[in-house]
Amino acid sequence: DRLIDATEQSNEDVVDRAIRPKLLADYTGQPHVKQQMEIFIEAARSRGEALDHLLIFGPPGLGKTTLANIVANELNVSIKTTSGPVLEKAGDLAALLTNLEEGDVLFIDEIHRLSPQVEEILYPAMEDYQLDLMIGEGPAARSIKLDLPAFTLVGATTRAGSLTSPLRDRFGIVQRLEFYSVADLSTIVGRSAHYLNLQMCDEGAIEIAKRSRGTPRIANRLLRRVRDYTQVKSDGTVNAEVAELALNMIDVDKSGFDYMDRKYLLAIIEKFMGGPVGLDNLAAAIGEEKETIEDVIEPYLIQQGFIQRTPRGRIVSDNAYHHFGLLPKQE
Ligand code: ADP
Repeated sequence: DRLIDATEQSNEDVVDRAIRPKLLADYTGQPHVKQQMEIFIEAARSRGEALDHLLIFGPPGLGKTTLANIVANELNVSIKTTSGPVLEKAGDLAALLTNLEEGDVLFIDEIHRLSPQVEEILYPAMEDYQLDLMIGEGPAARSIKLDLPAFTLVGATTRAGSLTSPLRDRFGIVQRLEFYSVADLSTIVGRSAHYLNLQMCDEGAIEIAKRSRGTPRIANRLLRRVRDYTQVKSDGTVNAEVAELALNMIDVDKSGFDYMDRKYLLAIIEKFMGGPVGLDNLAAAIGEEKETIEDVIEPYLIQQGFIQRTPRGRIVSDNAYHHFGLLPKQE
């Protein structure tokens, strides 16, 4: 079990719902996204039209679901939420579409995992607000067309590259979320601490922010572990020292790397001489799924300059050797 796995859901998400921002103004960081969305939302609202379809992409935990909910909230419309793998049959999507009201948001998480049959239904729905359904089989089969209310599809994906181009082309707005800076993450941590009734000084928030892999969901999760530690081991205020002790205890190191990150980097260094190594070999070596490696582990390591993806495979940089106190490989 990965402690800072950004994809997993848990009952802690109940608390998460309380600390999740509801308005664009409370959405920390991502200045380009915010600036654009403010304008697009305002324009759609003043025309009284549905917002154009929006595709949001970025690694897990960066705020895609949060942004989708904010969009609906700011537009003052309802949001219906589903995800690619859940929509098995065309009828599943048809049921959702026919339940929408004018202007509503339909949020499809993991939209790159839609089946082709379901995706087919989505094209006319997005383009002309039309539902094209085949009913029955064989000679009795016939197609029916239904008008749908004007709605906004918000799709989220960790991998924009896996979207088919007809689907991608139907989104009028595309937003890419970036990893968050330490400053933005410490703002998020401070805000969450406030909601959790936790006393925290700035240095404490920064220490947590630095170890959050640029990811708000991880920042909030680490905050909760620090809260547990503080409650039992200190006088109740989180300062840098308490935060550091708590995070060391749960095995998150100074770069924010956890057990899996270290296992990944050490495998390339020790088993594959620093690389290049292909994804299949690496996945077998560390016993992790390829998709998890590509979507969860690697994006942050790439952004931080610890690894590179090249056509011949993954290569670790000198930083990775330094991280473990090792000497880089001589070329
Ligand atoms: P994703 O859908 O990309 O996996 P979420 O939208 O579920 O990520 O975000 C995870 C958590 O991180 C949210 O519950 C929220 O508390 C927090 N969060 C995400 N983005 C922001 C942000 N910009 N400002 C403040 N908190 C955020």
